[in-house]
Amino acid sequence: RRGARACVVRTTCPYCGVGCGVLAEPDGQGGLKIRGDKAHPANEGKLCSKGSALGDTVALDDRLLAPQVMGREASWGEALDLVAAKFAASIREHGPDSVAMYVSGQLLTEDYYVANKLMKGYVGTANIDTNSRLCMASSVAGHRRAFGTDTVPGLYADWQEADLVVLTGSNLAWCHPVLYQRLAAAKKTRPELKVVTIDPRRTATTDLADFHLAIAPGGDGALFNGLLARIVEAGVVDSDYVARNVSGFPEAVAAAQASDLGMTGLSAEELAAFYQLWIDSEKVVTVYSQGINQSSSGSDKVNAIINCHLATGRIGKPGMGPFSVTGQPNAMGGREVGGLANMLACHLDIEEPAHRDAVQGFWVSPEMPDSPGLKAVDMFRAVEEGRIKALWIISTNPAVSMPEADRVRAAIEGCDFVVVSDITARTDTAQLADVLLPATGWGEKDGTVTNSERMISRQRRVLPAPGAARPDWQIICDVAARMGWGEAFAYDGPAAIFREYAALSGVAGALGRDFDISALAGISDEEYEALAPFCWPQSARKSGGRFFADGHFYTKDNRARMLPITPRAPQSQLSDTYPFRFNTGRVRDHWHTMTRTAKSARLSQHMAEPYLELNPADAAKLGIKPAQLVSVESPAGTAILRAMVSERIGRGEVFAPMHWTGQTASAGRIDALVAANTDPVSGQPESKGSAVRITPF
Ligand code: SF4
Repeated sequence: RRGARACVVRTTCPYCGVGCGVLAEPDGQGGLKIRGDKAHPANEGKLCSKGSALGDTVALDDRLLAPQVMGREASWGEALDLVAAKFAASIREHGPDSVAMYVSGQLLTEDYYVANKLMKGYVGTANIDTNSRLCMASSVAGHRRAFGTDTVPGLYADWQEADLVVLTGSNLAWCHPVLYQRLAAAKKTRPELKVVTIDPRRTATTDLADFHLAIAPGGDGALFNGLLARIVEAGVVDSDYVARNVSGFPEAVAAAQASDLGMTGLSAEELAAFYQLWIDSEKVVTVYSQGINQSSSGSDKVNAIINCHLATGRIGKPGMGPFSVTGQPNAMGGREVGGLANMLACHLDIEEPAHRDAVQGFWVSPEMPDSPGLKAVDMFRAVEEGRIKALWIISTNPAVSMPEADRVRAAIEGCDFVVVSDITARTDTAQLADVLLPATGWGEKDGTVTNSERMISRQRRVLPAPGAARPDWQIICDVAARMGWGEAFAYDGPAAIFREYAALSGVAGALGRDFDISALAGISDEEYEALAPFCWPQSARKSGGRFFADGHFYTKDNRARMLPITPRAPQSQLSDTYPFRFNTGRVRDHWHTMTRTAKSARLSQHMAEPYLELNPADAAKLGIKPAQLVSVESPAGTAILRAMVSERIGRGEVFAPMHWTGQTASAGRIDALVAANTDPVSGQPESKGSAVRITPF
């Protein structure tokens, strides 16, 4: 590439929610030299295998370099005119809810903000949802129900101060490796720091644990309800804290005491040991991730965890609290600026008339929907049924990653008009597009991301945009201008967008919301360029802060809510026909559907192909030998995978990684198997609970 900046650029990794700082330096041959940024508080110089290999992933070989209309190269003018005209025609003929946008936790916050502004404030539909729906929506719902806002209470530093770190539904060693390294280092320094992992599988993370609870799939709600009942029985409720700051305690306790601990699949001794350790450890951080969220009762599981922290006052103080770790680099930023169909920007609520009025007034916009839009699974159902007639997919690959992926692929294929913005034309989804728009990728664009502890960091451009590629914010604004709203989208760069939503966050703050970075609303372009990582709500010039230290929550009565939780089993029923519980997840060295990581040969060395992990006893019963190909079937689809026979997984359970793509079942498109069952509160799909059968291939 020509035009790369000949200097070291301080930026942020585009993969997981740890949000590691990266130093990127052009190598003079079109690539990048990559190092960890010692000055970044999230990683202090460390990088995992994926982050270290970022330089391998910037080659232009498969990049989309020019717009395409119906499979042929087109000018930006022609492509944008067509997108604007098709969307406008659909809105005119069928109403604003006939169009939709499906976006991504890979977007920068500035991209997310303008997408949300266009759809909600100008098109007048809340039909904008994000692949974060598949990742974090249950945490968002749990936070909002308990705290009144989508607030992550604590900081990474709490993990290092804790007496006990509980990792539930999290293979941290592979999915958030630098956080795992930080935890391992803390445990080495302070061996008295205890770690418990709760996971149906033994994973790389359990190697660090003092003990591992091999919980039955879906048993987490019962486990934490049992903990709450034990907290009450042991007389260790923080009664003063509950009396001052919490509502719903008696109802939550009654539901907890009625829970069937048999759902956990754990022995009485295992339960007693875990409960005693939790109760005896004053400083407890309960870390949870997709094993909790990706469930048809994910929101309830989140609240069952939060209930235990509220009952003991173990929240808002150093070294303690519930802690959601986000899968994507900017799931949090998207949540902050309203990327979900049921949220407004700056943690304002779409159901609240005063919040809607405030956002509309700030934007001086012609429209504002008064109810949530379609969440991801429902959105693609509406596409399938022809209710969505124009769909714009940005920076994500739903034809592979959505549950019932074959059905979603067919729905996209059958949609009247599909636009895809991406860095490549090779994804399964891009191949279904009527219009393809070339976007800049990591290293080629500027903006901000927010990590799991609310730390906002800059991503910075280090390489020139390839071909005709443009940043997503600019593409969205170009379409908005063609639809007649140019004045409201006349930004001269991401700094101007940042200033606008920082100012809007001040409006949210005045309405009593948690997300307020309005101190930064007046920063100059130069200050934005130099912006150092900071945890909101503090300004960039102060150190990070912890929420709820003062016992103030964002509900109407300022009290946190404990919720009565009735645990539910996974929605897909096991049967003689489909007798195995199908668990899905990541491998250490690949990311999402491998658009970027597949370009690195060294990353593909770790796990070279898709596989199915199953227990030796199950393999023997089915006549399956190690490394043999097996067919995995559910009512929704089929995949062909290589058997990995392992004691790490229990009988009756199987696991497959989600990354592999392609047009055929043998390519391991495992989301084709996943049933589209969703949590009724969050809309998050149950990606870890489908019923399947296995046969030798
Ligand atoms: Fe990137 Fe996550 Fe690895 Fe850090 S831990 S380098 S953010 S993938």
